[in-house]
Amino acid sequence: MSVAADSLVVAEYCRRTPKSAALYRRAVKCLPSGVVHDARFLRPHPIYVERAAASRKWDVDGNEYVDYIGGHGALLLGHNPPQVVEAVRRQLTRGTHFGACHELEVEWAELVQRLIPSAERVRFTASGTESTLLAMRLARAFTGKTKLMRFVCHFHGWQDHVAFGVSNHHDGTPATGVLAEVAENVVLCPPGDIDAVREVFANRDDVAGVILEPTGASWGQVPLPEGFLAELREVTQDHDAVLIFDEVISAFRCSPGGAQGFYSITPDLTTMAKIVAGGFPGGAIAGRKELLDLIDLEQCAADEREKVIHTGTFNANSISAAAGVATLRIIADGQPCQKANDYAARLRDALNRVLREEKLNWVAYGTFSGFHIFTNPDNETVTVDDIQSGKVDYLKLKGGARRELLRKFRLGMLSNGVDLFGWPGGVTSSVHTEEDLQQTADAFAATIGMLKSEGEI
Ligand code: PMP
Repeated sequence: MSVAADSLVVAEYCRRTPKSAALYRRAVKCLPSGVVHDARFLRPHPIYVERAAASRKWDVDGNEYVDYIGGHGALLLGHNPPQVVEAVRRQLTRGTHFGACHELEVEWAELVQRLIPSAERVRFTASGTESTLLAMRLARAFTGKTKLMRFVCHFHGWQDHVAFGVSNHHDGTPATGVLAEVAENVVLCPPGDIDAVREVFANRDDVAGVILEPTGASWGQVPLPEGFLAELREVTQDHDAVLIFDEVISAFRCSPGGAQGFYSITPDLTTMAKIVAGGFPGGAIAGRKELLDLIDLEQCAADEREKVIHTGTFNANSISAAAGVATLRIIADGQPCQKANDYAARLRDALNRVLREEKLNWVAYGTFSGFHIFTNPDNETVTVDDIQSGKVDYLKLKGGARRELLRKFRLGMLSNGVDLFGWPGGVTSSVHTEEDLQQTADAFAATIGMLKSEGEI
């Protein structure tokens, strides 16, 4: 029996994507699971994209999609914004890697410093994962303490300190390949639970730092209760622990000053990637001068302190720097964030209207330029406010849904011309249009219809 034979949704997807299927058959012979990032895995095969522009992308079979993956969140301005393309084109003709200091890195750091409230000093890295790793090392070196506090489901990349407790190992045991000694030095708290945080601090004095996604776990899929960030700021200050906002997604997205700018709560350290490098590889860490001084050669020598090690071949490479500078200059006036936020709010409303019409007990929710779809596996009465105020259990929001349903939902949305993340949800950009919105709402209704017709819902 073919993969498609038992499902109309799968059959329709296969009918539309034969060239992607052929590429996938080649891919599985050289790439584990045929992919380069777990989030891109999709049975029977993912789409292979050939080109993209603004809010849309096209696959090798010529299908057109409204894109809500947005370069994994890196593309607030959509695909190929002309000023960014021009800046990169100009830089390519001048040289890609000087192995030396260059003016763009200074301009780039000045822009980050101007926009991000906590950024007294800035260091560039090559990715978000590298940024969170460096933040943790700085927190330990600064305080002389060993433990790092994290929150279940909050995502900070794939390095050893953060590679468990996100989608598995919620009890804090190490994921395979991670040393027990590393996991033992991480204190995991339930997300958004300030009492749990207070209890940890009441019982131990070895917490060097606390890291979290300030929008709530997984780009707000598990929202934080109101007031949580302010209370966490206070508790960490009281106990001399370094507060780290992981703004890899939210920096320059929630507002030009990130989530910290929006909420007016300033962490000690901020980790960034994605938008900061204008859609090219790159990341950054910023924060209080006295913390970043730990990678300052002369300051450490003057203070007779050992310097924290940090290097990286592609830190502030000239192409990413050119893209980052061009992007941050555009974002600085706040309009792109506002446009992406407004579109997302209208999209969430439109999706909820479809759900009401379809009499389906799911919920579209989210904040800023994000949306998530809660597929309500227990068919409970749940409102947007229930979710946003933290009343719905985080494991239900994260993992309660049926996998097969989510897979078919994604395939159905693709067949109807919309690409979103499989959790399911996505990010919006400043260039999504009313036509995109209508097409997305229509695709949502059509996909729900397909799933109903084959008894999935
Ligand atoms: N932190 C957060 C909040 C993220 O969303 C991500 C990536 N999605 C990372 C860290 C890791 O960034 P990177 O993929 O650039 O290593």
